[in-house]
Amino acid sequence: MKNDLLITGGTGLVGSAIDVGTKVSSSDVDLRIAEDTFNFFKKQKPKKVIHCAGRVGGLGGNMNHKGEFFYENIMINTNVLEASRRVGVEKVVSFLSTCVFPDNVEYPLTEKKIHIGEPHHSNYPYAYAKRMVDIQSRAYKEQYGLNYVSVIPTNIYGPNDNFSIDDGHVLPALIHKCYLAKQNNTDLEVWGSGKPLREFIYSEDVAKLSKWVLENYEEEEPIIFTTSEEISVGNVVEIVVNCMEFKGKVVFNKDKPDGQFRKPADNSKLLSYLPDFKFTPIEVGIKNTVDWFVKNYDESRK
Ligand code: GDP
Repeated sequence: MKNDLLITGGTGLVGSAIDVGTKVSSSDVDLRIAEDTFNFFKKQKPKKVIHCAGRVGGLGGNMNHKGEFFYENIMINTNVLEASRRVGVEKVVSFLSTCVFPDNVEYPLTEKKIHIGEPHHSNYPYAYAKRMVDIQSRAYKEQYGLNYVSVIPTNIYGPNDNFSIDDGHVLPALIHKCYLAKQNNTDLEVWGSGKPLREFIYSEDVAKLSKWVLENYEEEEPIIFTTSEEISVGNVVEIVVNCMEFKGKVVFNKDKPDGQFRKPADNSKLLSYLPDFKFTPIEVGIKNTVDWFVKNYDESRK
């Protein structure tokens, strides 16, 4: 199976947690360039692909790089799915995210609601580019009979994440900031009010679930990966502070954005297939991530 399966974004947060397949990263091929992508796929001849590569970031990254986030994601996705089709890849599992969903929508988010309204203004370029993965996958299924599908995880976190303070997602950014605040005896600055609610999923759980989708999930519709457990940013901060044994002061900077207040997602479909799936408890996942970051500080992406 190893050589037949290609993992794009192989050194990223999810790719590095997947324990099978040939992993490729941007140092192997520039997936934004069609010709390079087609040539690479011709050489590799994969039978299956888990497509994790993308230009991703948290609230800050999305707000500060709108043009890049649109262009890079739409090119990467278009090229990867078309290259897969051209070399006869049987199955592609691509990653979307719950931030592709409409802003004004009735909660909880379900697989049927992806396209029914505009995304939040903070990340609409990323959201629209990623929504096209679903369109392209469906179109290829209808015209060519290909089994291409996407998965929609909530906030993923874990080792090998991008811990950038400006552009990273909330958890890795907080872990990095807390690490520095502890080193320098300064306050830990949290963006916004701490009240927004998010659902987090540990990268190893996402890796397990995406392997399951690759082998077992045959529907055309995407499938949401979530624990369906909401937690406030403030509570997440508490867990990070405990794991890091940070004794300093935590300040909430209301001048920074809160983003969407909540975006609860429904895991009924996932649980209908995998009723006994055991999600990693968030305290355990954050502890592992904090320990990994402290140990790998110098080499970590930040
Ligand atoms: P989102 O889930 O797509 O909005 O993206 P994030 O993972 O960046 O989460 C953003 C939420 O975390 C917002 O409510 C922010 O106000 C809050 N937050 C608190 N501190 C930070 C921080 O240092 N970085 C980021 N990215 N978000 C933070």
